[in-house]
Amino acid sequence: MKNFLRKKNIAVIFCLLAAVIIFAVFFFARNLDNGKNYNADIIIKNAVILTLNENSKIIDNGWIAIKDGKIIGLGNGGHNYTPREVIYAEGKVAMPGLVNAHSHAAMTLFRGADDSSGLADWISNMNNYEKEVSKDEIYWGALLGEIEMIKSGTTTFNDMYFFEEAIANSIKKTGMRAVIDVPFNFEKNKLEIDKEFMNNNKNFSTISFSIAPNPLINFSKTNLDEIKKIILNNNLLLHIHIEERKDEKGRFIEKYGLTPLQMLINSNLLDSKVVMAHAVNFTDDEFKLISKYPNIGIALNPKTNFKLSGFTAPIAKMMEYNLTLGIGTDGAGSSNSLDLFDQINFIAFAAGKCSSDKDYCENKNNIYPEKIIRMATIDGAKVLGLDKEIGSIEIGKKADIILIDFNEIELTPSYDIYSSLAHNTDGSDVADSIIDGKIVMKNRKLINLDEREIAEIIKKVNEVSEKIKKTKTKSLFD
Ligand SMILES: [Zn+2]
Repeated sequence: MKNFLRKKNIAVIFCLLAAVIIFAVFFFARNLDNGKNYNADIIIKNAVILTLNENSKIIDNGWIAIKDGKIIGLGNGGHNYTPREVIYAEGKVAMPGLVNAHSHAAMTLFRGADDSSGLADWISNMNNYEKEVSKDEIYWGALLGEIEMIKSGTTTFNDMYFFEEAIANSIKKTGMRAVIDVPFNFEKNKLEIDKEFMNNNKNFSTISFSIAPNPLINFSKTNLDEIKKIILNNNLLLHIHIEERKDEKGRFIEKYGLTPLQMLINSNLLDSKVVMAHAVNFTDDEFKLISKYPNIGIALNPKTNFKLSGFTAPIAKMMEYNLTLGIGTDGAGSSNSLDLFDQINFIAFAAGKCSSDKDYCENKNNIYPEKIIRMATIDGAKVLGLDKEIGSIEIGKKADIILIDFNEIELTPSYDIYSSLAHNTDGSDVADSIIDGKIVMKNRKLINLDEREIAEIIKKVNEVSEKIKKTKTKSLFD
């Protein structure tokens, strides 16, 4: 009996010792690195991280910690974060979400409605189709566009369209980040913006605002002066189409005696934060002038320009003048796709080499893959004035991050990550997407919309296209 008690005591002591050792190991493991352990919402592990920071630092086998919508930690090797969710990213590249610097998301409704006209006829056809659609239909079109953007790696888009409340509601559904234009009207030359629209949407963390006078030729000097006042009072971005049409200067001079750029200068609008979409027909002198205004960003839309006008922006020249360049998809009515990688590929193939002038081949500012990827991320964010918040993977920035699956066939092998991204990545290689610290796509499955909702959106958009087909037939006989 005594023997049994002694053995029992030894067993108890042994158990206690084991518990102390386990506790100590656990305690020290949790308290590595200055003895602290931190909570995180998400950790991305084992990724190749393209930070796109100032030095374009690449971290192999890296991790990213995310909390409350922001990037709170970044590195490789061990970390001391306890996450609620882990994303294992072996074989994947983590990079900032793409920034679509100019879009009309709801124009998915008119994808392929006119694939053969030149720019002037195309604009007039689109104006006719746009008269046919309701606010609800714009909502369905915008949702389809945003699904397409998320599935191809875009996390932020800079939109310009009508029925803006429908666009804002679609953003609240998909969780994308966006700059949207504020509705406005002129009462006896005095401009009123829709304050209620701003109030309804300003507290949504991923929405910010622009003013988009379109088409610019409809706005007189008095109108533009009013716009300047509204921009100053409401801290708005100015989002315009400019120098897209070959005949644009002539039309402006005929109407106002000034070029579009001179009109903007006359109303002091170049001092504002401006996004100029297209900008393909500026002269050298105009580019030089624009380069003096650091707030101006240009949104390149190469597929639209090539399709509707037969040429693209002089990107090498723009770079020579050190202009801030981002990349846009424009609407699917002109570029047919909202996959920003389509535009990136187009620039890499069509404009990235020695296509226009031999001098550019040797120019240090040549359009190389890393630069094109910067245009689609951090430079695009700069174009929108959002580069302090998004566009790169850095501690303190908002967590807008995508994972590209480099195990995919078209990405195998990869000799250089930037070159693979610029030349042979397409939207379907994007596996996961995080916007504002929330997972919006995981293994290509959307989180905020289920299969039934997506099927409904496709059905609604197809119904609109049936209506537009009838408009087309009618106009043929007018
Ligand atoms: Zn556009």
